[in-house]
Amino acid sequence: MALKEGKIIILSAPSGTGKSSIIKNLITDATLRLCFSISATSRKPRGEEKDGVDYYFLSNEEFKEKVSLGEFVEWEEVYAGTCYGTLESEVKRITSAGNNLIMDIDVKGALNVKKRFGNRALSIFVLPPSKEELERRLRGRATDSDETIAKRLAKADYELSFADKFDTRVVNDDLHQATEEVRRLISDFSK
Ligand code: ADP
Ligand code: 5GP
Repeated sequence: MALKEGKIIILSAPSGTGKSSIIKNLITDATLRLCFSISATSRKPRGEEKDGVDYYFLSNEEFKEKVSLGEFVEWEEVYAGTCYGTLESEVKRITSAGNNLIMDIDVKGALNVKKRFGNRALSIFVLPPSKEELERRLRGRATDSDETIAKRLAKADYELSFADKFDTRVVNDDLHQATEEVRRLISDFSK
């Protein structure tokens, strides 16, 4: 019997909402068969981040070259001067082995992936309980400079305006509850 191709799960939200925390809680659940899609980025590693684990860290030149070779399924300049993108090779690596791919990408990239993969993809928008709590989480994470935090907060309203374009929305107030909600959505979708 041919191996069933994996599905594509897209998680998007303003930075600091809790996407990585939700993914971290779900990735170890073997029944979901989830594999994290490692994006390419032109930004520098942050904290303990490792190349080929958290991101494929590329120079601006390397990123541009891959764009011109058509190697990306989608890419966006998410913050001025900093690009992020999903490599086609990454999607194939995961889904052709029958695993479900989970990606943490920006709102525009998310809608492009949904458009491209249609019913093979489920797009989930994660909402923070409030802007004040979002700022607290960004500051509490203590990985970004004040300038970076300000840039991320400034973008949050714009990103929140995309929420109703997603297949579904989950509020991350209590992390355990939000994780369980996303777990059920993925489980139903990948049956
Ligand atoms: P994102 O991946 O969306 O940028 P993170 O998962 O890095 O966000 O979460 C940002 C910060 O908020 C982290 O310090 C994380 O521990 C914390 N956090 C995540 N979810 C919650 C929650 N429900 N309640 C309180 N803090 C949370
Ligand atoms: P961070 O710098 O916090 O790791 O990520 C910043 C933003 O880039 C987040 O909103 C994240 O969702 C987005 N992002 C990460 N990878 C990709 C990608 O492959 N494509 C797009 N379009 N956005 C991405």
